[in-house]
Formats: sequence, C-alpha cells, structure tokens
Amino acid sequence: MIKPVPSEYKPNEMEKKIIKFWRENKIFEKSVEQRKDKKPYVFLEGPPTANGLPHPGHVLTRIMKDVVLRYKTMDGYHVPRRAGWDTHGLPVEIEVEKKLGLESKQDIEKYGVEKFNEECRRSTFKYEQAWIDMTERVGFWIDMKNPYITLKNEYIESVWWSLKQAWEKKLLYKGYKVVPYCPRCGTVLSAHEVAQGYKKVKEPSIFVKFKIKNENAYFLAWTTTPWTLISNVALAVHPDEYYVKIKYEGETLILAEERAYHLLKDSDYELLDRFKGKELEYKEYEPIFSFVKPDKKAWYVICADFVTMDEGTGIVHIAPAFGEEDYEAGREYDLPVVQLARKNGTFKDEVEPWANMFVKDADPKIIKYLQEKGFLAGEREYTHEYPFCWRCDSPLLYYAMESWFIAMSKLKEKLVENNNNINWYPEYIKHGRFGDFIRDVKDWALSRDRYWGTPLPIWKCNNCGETICIGSIEELKKLSENFPENYDLHKPFIDNLKLKCPKCNSNMKREKDVIDCWYDSGSAFFAQWHYPFENQQKFKKNYPVDFICEALDQTRGWFYSLLAIST
Ligand SMILES: [Zn+2]
Ligand SMILES: [Zn+2]
Repeated sequence: MIKPVPSEYKPNEMEKKIIKFWRENKIFEKSVEQRKDKKPYVFLEGPPTANGLPHPGHVLTRIMKDVVLRYKTMDGYHVPRRAGWDTHGLPVEIEVEKKLGLESKQDIEKYGVEKFNEECRRSTFKYEQAWIDMTERVGFWIDMKNPYITLKNEYIESVWWSLKQAWEKKLLYKGYKVVPYCPRCGTVLSAHEVAQGYKKVKEPSIFVKFKIKNENAYFLAWTTTPWTLISNVALAVHPDEYYVKIKYEGETLILAEERAYHLLKDSDYELLDRFKGKELEYKEYEPIFSFVKPDKKAWYVICADFVTMDEGTGIVHIAPAFGEEDYEAGREYDLPVVQLARKNGTFKDEVEPWANMFVKDADPKIIKYLQEKGFLAGEREYTHEYPFCWRCDSPLLYYAMESWFIAMSKLKEKLVENNNNINWYPEYIKHGRFGDFIRDVKDWALSRDRYWGTPLPIWKCNNCGETICIGSIEELKKLSENFPENYDLHKPFIDNLKLKCPKCNSNMKREKDVIDCWYDSGSAFFAQWHYPFENQQKFKKNYPVDFICEALDQTRGWFYSLLAIST
C-alpha cells in the first residue's frame, strides 16, 4: 500500500518520527545483532568529556562517523559501536575549582582532596543527558547505554598495565620539564592561561662579559633576566653565523658580526678576527657565579639554531633550569640543571648574598654586583611583553619541574613505520601535519602535579631508594598492608596505602602525580575491554582498529596518543 505523499515537507517532524521509530523498534541494536557472524569492521570512538556541552563541531564529527559506519553496516559488515567518556584532567578540575570558589592548590588541599575529587567525579557527567539527546537527534547510532569510562578502576588498571610494559622496556624516566609557573599560586599554567596575561613591561637588560679560559678575551652575552645568571651553565652561539673578535675600549671581545655592526656602529673598534660560530663550540669560559658545583661538565660554548641576530649580541646565556630552549639545548649537550630557585620564587640558601629574596627583586642587586666585579659591559632598559598570572598578577617564571617522561624519541623509527601503515583521509595529513609531528617527536611528559586523574603507579622506597611500577590491582594488594575491600583507585586513597619495599621491607611512597589524560584516552583500544585482565578474545577481535574519525585538532592529540601507546 502506498501512503499519500504529504503536500508539505517538514524535516523536523519527519526526522523526529523516524528517530522514534528507530528507538522503539531498537533498529540500531538489531542492525548490529543481525550481522554478528559477518566480517567485523572495528570502530573506536574518541571519548568526549561530558562535563562540557556538545558544540556544532561535535555534531559534524558524529555525522561523519555515522555515514561511514552506516555504509559499512549496509555493506554487510558487523559494526559494533561503543560510546566512551573521557573523565579526567585539568578541564574538570578547573570547573570544580570555579564552582567551589577555590583559587589555588593550597585551597584544594585545605578543602580536602577526597571531597574535591568526589566533586570532580560528580561533575564529569553533568551534561551526559545533553550528549545523549544530541547524539540521538542527529541520528548517530552508537551504544550509549554501555560506554567505556576512563575513571573506572578497571580502566585505570589497564592503563597501569600498559605503563608497566613501558617501564619494563625502560621507557619511563624522571626528568625535567620547563613550564610557566606562578610562584604565588603555586601552579603551572597552561599555554592558554599564559596567553591571557601578557603585559608590556620595562625591564633592565644587560650586557655581560664572560672571561674565556686561558685567554685575555671575553664573550659578550646579553640577557633580560639577570637573576638567571646565577644558574648559568653555558653560552650559545649560532653555528652558521659569523662572529668577530674585536678590540674595543682596550678590551678583547667576541660577539656576532651583525650585532657588532648594530651595537657599535658609531664607535671605533678594531677587527682582530672573523669566523663561524661553529668554531667556538666547546670553548670554555670562567663562571661568574658558582654557588654550587655542577654534577656535569659546564661553562663552555654550545651551538643552537634558536640564537637570532635580531637583538642582543648573538651570544645567549643558557640556564637549563629556567627556559625551555635552554633545557632542550642542555639535554643535547648533557649540561647540568642548576636549580637555585625555590618553587615560591625565592633563591635557595646556597645563593648566599640573595638567599630568600624573590628572584626578580634581586635583579638590581645582581646588576650592581656585576658592575663592581667588572663583568658588566652595559645596561639598557628593554621593553617587551612578559606573561603575568591571570589570577593574581604575579610575574610568571619559567621553571624546570621534575616530571615523568615516556621516551618517545627512542621509538621514533617505529612510530614513522606504523604511521606509514595508516590510511589517512585526507591523505596529506599522513606525511604533513601528523608526519611532521612524529618525525620531530619529543619525549612525552606524562605526569601532572594535580589531583583528578589516573594515579601514576610508581612507588619509591624511603630507605633504599628502590623504585617500582605497579601493573595491576593484584600486585598492589600483595605489597600493601591495608588494602580494603571497597576502594576507588584515585587520590587520596592511593596515597594512603602502605606499601612495603620488596627489597628491604621499609615503607614506600608513591610519586604523587597523576598522568596526562591524553594517555587515558589513548589507551581506549585496550582499556575499554579491561585488557589483558578480561576480554582477551574481544580485544583481539577489535584490534587493530579499522576506523577512527575526529576533528583536525585531534591529529596531534588523540590520534598521536593512540599511535604512541600502541607502538
Ligand atoms: Zn598567580
Ligand atoms: Zn627498600
């Protein structure tokens, strides 16, 4: 029987009718069930966070996913689709901080980590219904009744298992990461937060002379942060630029040719020599400050491409504790990290003349000292943009924090190889945006000094220093004396467990961090099945994944973490 065609087209009404029909007759469920014996087509849903409302971008990716999955279903494949929720991380914590009126980590600790994390857990699903409604309304077929959730004990256990795999391959290590940090609030700021707080400031910039070892000549360096000279361990030059040795006002100085031309164009100086920066590499100089003895060779010239001829002298003073580029260069040359500032922004006791002083307040005093000792070659006011804390207006410091890393750089070859086996649409991403990213892969800073996240499963013995990585709940139970029947693996529970050192039976302490929530979502392909503790068959059937689809910003986010962890 043919129904009469309505004279008016009302898409909204019609769609609602169809959705109702789908829901009442369980069409999606049937479409999956009926093809159970057919060839599987494996889809992995990138988990959104339900503590934020869905936006139009989410609608777009959901529809694109649906088109492919629906096509594959109609083509006869068995296409189960399981929803997932990403539940950890800073965005959740920030929401809760706002709601509770907390402004710093001290505030959170005062409020109580247990109560705070309880709030985080509750807020995670604030907009779940909105997501479910949106998903149904746009006609995206996915099983939302039975999603995987990254905050569950089982999920966390699978993540731990994978971390232990990395641990056993010696890919987890503790290093430093240089981050923008507010000394007053005691927090690291995200790139987004830093961007909010730039202000134009006038600060002293100084020209400093470093005496070359066994030679009556000086390197002329320039810096806008005199206080970081305390932690200087090297000087950087550009390997391909020309440098000159000149006689100026009775002294022999080395600086970049181009900079000499700019700085001294109205003065008389005698040119003694001219050479490429590369020739200065490893040349040693005498330190101005040596409050502590570095644990590695320091105080020599290194080459770095980030040295520019735009300002300064073409010779950059390097303090790996206080700059990201400095730190990277320091790793390349195996320079020591001399960290002489406390997290609250004051100098440590070793810095005798200025101990306990806020580092930036020490600038004028350090300049005066340099002048008295004859190291100061010039001073000029310098106007530049400097980041301040958007919360409390303190100047931010770039600070080397201890952090746990995954040595992705050791896996570069494999990453490139595995990427070659992925079919990207659009194809140019494979070797473009994503390919560039992995060819230049950096070690993954895994740990976060926060509260709401998968706890880092690493414990250290207070007595003998033995460090262990726990890979399962069973293992944890065996080593701890007070493991209860009901538990939730998040902080603070995990930190209150009493673990005994397997070597000397003393007490152990957990590394207090949680892990980057990108690692959580990147583990979805096995952790959603609680693999390898359960569902071994299911995992095997669902790996490798045939199809994932997300927005472009995910190429360096979720796509990368998936590839990284599976490698
Ligand atoms: Zn602050
Ligand atoms: Zn021990």
